[in-house]
Amino acid sequence: MICAGIETTAHTFGVGICDENGNILANVRDTYKPKAGWGIVPMQARKHHEDVAESVMGQALSEAGISERDIDALAVSQGPGLPPCLYAGMNYSAELSAKLKKPLMGVNHCVAHIEIGRLMTKLKDPVTLYVSGANTQIIAYTAGRYRIFGETQDIGIGNALDKFGRAAGLQFPHGPKIEELAAKGRWTGMPYVVKGMDLSFSGIVTEAAKKLNSGEPLNDVCFSLQESMFSMVTEVIERALAHTGKSEVLLTGGVAANKRLQEMIGIMCSERGAKSAAVPLEYSGDNGAMIAWTGILAHKNGQKPLGSEPEVLPRWRTDESEIPWMQR
Ligand code: AMP
Ligand code: MG
Repeated sequence: MICAGIETTAHTFGVGICDENGNILANVRDTYKPKAGWGIVPMQARKHHEDVAESVMGQALSEAGISERDIDALAVSQGPGLPPCLYAGMNYSAELSAKLKKPLMGVNHCVAHIEIGRLMTKLKDPVTLYVSGANTQIIAYTAGRYRIFGETQDIGIGNALDKFGRAAGLQFPHGPKIEELAAKGRWTGMPYVVKGMDLSFSGIVTEAAKKLNSGEPLNDVCFSLQESMFSMVTEVIERALAHTGKSEVLLTGGVAANKRLQEMIGIMCSERGAKSAAVPLEYSGDNGAMIAWTGILAHKNGQKPLGSEPEVLPRWRTDESEIPWMQR
């Protein structure tokens, strides 16, 4: 069975193609870039996605060496995400599904980040740190679903980095740039905000910008910002491990690419006798392959395809999806 997955929840239009054994046959994307100093303008992102859809699909099919007619099922990121962006993907996928007369599976974007992570790292039942632009969640499977053990109460860690990056006038993408600058910095203090199992980053960004404006070296602010935010998530993951008794940690989402974050979680895990692994870069940010693979899992496990007028689910939470394939 060959599934084509379409991802459009935010800045990326991605098409991935995979088979039921988890072989990724293609993974192509085109990312909308806001003008300097701006965040995503949702309607512009939607237009970007509509404009590139045909060509990205064409590239994915040729990378996979198949034609449209070889596709057995389609999958789409149904949510969560920015509504205009979600509509771009849903409209495109629903049309293609009707044209090819193939089922269209609705996939939860956050679940897809976890599933591509499990596929790539071979971790079986991890506590997952899902750290992307908009999301920061500590997730683990129990009783039929991926449950959220802790999450941000305001912005995601990626958005926190991006907001600070914009305030500091750094070039886009801000996360990798801050990582590079932080490598030359030292600790000068930063707030640390863990509330029970939840996290808050927006005040830390304000403080980081204030420190910069008061003349602190940029490298030091970047280092302290990373150290504080990454320690906060590491603390919550450790408590989730202790509570669930699990012994694996999966890092996924765009921020999972950060080497210092990987190192901090690696140290905590080795001290507990647990294992940690990060999703390879190509699959850590938003991509179509993760949607295709999760679409296969959903299809194989009896999830019903979307109907003829599918809705998008902008606020669909990770713990609102049934995960029958994890039951044993
Ligand atoms: P996603 O929403 O999953 O595509 O992830 C995008 C986010 O990942 C953006 O906020 C980026 O700034 C962030 N990001 C990408 N690479 C890194 C990195 N090396 N360190 C920290 N953040 C990163
Ligand atoms: Mg994402």
